Amino acid sequence: EREGPVEGRETRLRVVLRVRPLTCKETRRGDRRVVHSLGDGAVHVSAARHDATFGFSAVFDASASQEAVFEGSGMRQLVELAIDGFSCTVFAFGQTGSGKTYTLMGPLTQSETQPASPALLGLMQRSFACLLEQSRSRGSDLALSASYLEIYNEQVRDLLSPGPPCALPLRWSKTRGFYVENQLSVDFESLEAIVSLLLQGSQRRRTSAHALNRHSSRSHALLTIHIRSRAPSTCPSKQGTLCFVDLAGSERVKETGSSGELSVEANSINRSLLALGHCISLLAKPRGKWTHIPYRDSKLTRLLARSLGGSGITLMVACISPSSRCLSETLSTLHYASRAG
Ligand code: ADP
Ligand code: MG
Repeated sequence: EREGPVEGRETRLRVVLRVRPLTCKETRRGDRRVVHSLGDGAVHVSAARHDATFGFSAVFDASASQEAVFEGSGMRQLVELAIDGFSCTVFAFGQTGSGKTYTLMGPLTQSETQPASPALLGLMQRSFACLLEQSRSRGSDLALSASYLEIYNEQVRDLLSPGPPCALPLRWSKTRGFYVENQLSVDFESLEAIVSLLLQGSQRRRTSAHALNRHSSRSHALLTIHIRSRAPSTCPSKQGTLCFVDLAGSERVKETGSSGELSVEANSINRSLLALGHCISLLAKPRGKWTHIPYRDSKLTRLLARSLGGSGITLMVACISPSSRCLSETLSTLHYASRAG
């Protein structure tokens, strides 16, 4: 593990905002747009009793292409830092339906196994391509492998292992830090191979034996690329990671009428998103001011301890809908994300 590249919050944590277009359904039922980009990283929310402006490193509005989000979010630099041995993490945060999965993977649906067009590929496929391109241009001295996990109700499950889903224990050791026991890590050398792992795992996430319809929006999915340098032993060995996290929907599940199961779900999601927000807001402070960073509060933050801590570099993509009907969740996402940055 390497020392941080640059001190200070600008490079350690970057928060960008993506506002998706109104969907056909929202347009048809006459929803109003209450979110407007002001340029320069500012966004304005105006509705009956709300009138507020929030600032981010960048704002991508409804007209922003997938490519624009990749280039404008600093994702390319993050890939390069991971190759250089840093622990890099990208989060997509927001309520269900706000565009997290679209931003990370493109418009994958139940029936589709491939996005319609290359222009719609998400941050993940673009990052994989960038990584493999760099690897080739460096004479293929990088050894690449991937793991893909899901956290649901505070249980960790391997999305790449073929057997029936089972919960894996999360452990800690002095040398490895937090790790998942018996987690599969699959070597890959081509773009086709890693995209196929992504699709297999995502499919498994959707068609889990225990799956309820909402399952995938109530779980966190973490795909991690491990990058080892195969350079001659005269150089210090570098080991970077690039982790993509499709977080569970951030909407609060209403307590009234929720079954016991829903409450467990809501509690574990709230707990992990709260713990994450807490860790991130502490990290956004100058180094000297860190007190204790509460990684142990959830499985999610334990798994991300290395990325969130010491030498990690984090990009948070907050996703929102522009619709008047999503106003309260939108405001809560904007508050969460601007607190982080
Ligand atoms: P989430 O993963 O946050 O639940 P999705 O990524 O599934 O949300 O997006 C919800 C719906 O909105 C999907 O039908 C998706 O294709 C569409 N969508 C999201 N973002 C965009 C965008 N930037 N442009 C066009 N359609 C989008
Ligand atoms: Mg999703």
